[in-house]
Amino acid sequence: MRLQDKVILITGSGSGIGKATALLFASEGAKLIINDLSEQQGTDTVKEIEAAGGEAIFIRADVTDPADVSAMVDQIIAKYGVIDVLFNNAGISGVGVLHEIEPETWDRVINVNIRGVFIPSKYVIPHMMKAGKGSIINMSSCIAEIGLANRASYAATKGAVLALTKSMQVDYAPYKIRVNALLPGTIMTPFVEKYLKESYSNKEEAIAGLQKRQLSGDLGLPEDVAKAALFLASDESSFVMGAPLYVDGGVVFG
Ligand code: NAD
Repeated sequence: MRLQDKVILITGSGSGIGKATALLFASEGAKLIINDLSEQQGTDTVKEIEAAGGEAIFIRADVTDPADVSAMVDQIIAKYGVIDVLFNNAGISGVGVLHEIEPETWDRVINVNIRGVFIPSKYVIPHMMKAGKGSIINMSSCIAEIGLANRASYAATKGAVLALTKSMQVDYAPYKIRVNALLPGTIMTPFVEKYLKESYSNKEEAIAGLQKRQLSGDLGLPEDVAKAALFLASDESSFVMGAPLYVDGGVVFG
């Protein structure tokens, strides 16, 4: 068991990559806190974990809302006394070329994808500092490194998360807190389905175009990212600090 008894909060874990990661972490002995906006998806994830013999609770909270998040963190600390790993995974898609994006849409993407990393980190870090240990995984994207069409607001947020990760790592290294970033490529989740629907008239053609950019020749699965997250969450990555970990089938070279 690579995460035996570690208490792990994964934001946005009612779906996609967060859910696949929660299932994998639970199978490795972790106690999971499933967070999401969707109560239905969150409780379904808990049920799946429990059915597989794992331990999980669901807490509904909006990652951009300080009141929601501080209450969630208080609840976790009251139950377990510690948060060993925080995976800032929740995020939303942002589609459109810059001059066509409405300011309100821009603000929403920035809010969820950047503030949604800031707020949970703000409330969890003091507990990690007190414990003198912790691992934080921030969800960036390969789009922080390469240009992709029609994704201006989203790219801006994921570049910001990568920069934030490095800054956090420097600030919290003295407390033995590691902060690393995941940079997935295109991973087939409901989030990508939505992006493909909004951006392309022919989904199959769009997928073929994306596959062509991959050195691997194929798109990723949520489980591919979950395995990389497992490495960053576990003590096996104890010498990995402030790192961008690409999980992208080589798309940054495509
Ligand atoms: P998803 O839509 O399947 O899951 C995201 C989850 O986050 C949803 O369950 C949603 O309800 C939740 N969420 C959204 N806003 C929230 C909020 N304010 N508070 C709490 N929960 C909230 O998406 P996914 O593809 O699994 O993406 C997960 C993360 O991975 C995102 O940050 C995304 O940007 C990033 N990412 C995805 C891909 C990809 O190709 N799928 C690639 C790179 C990075």
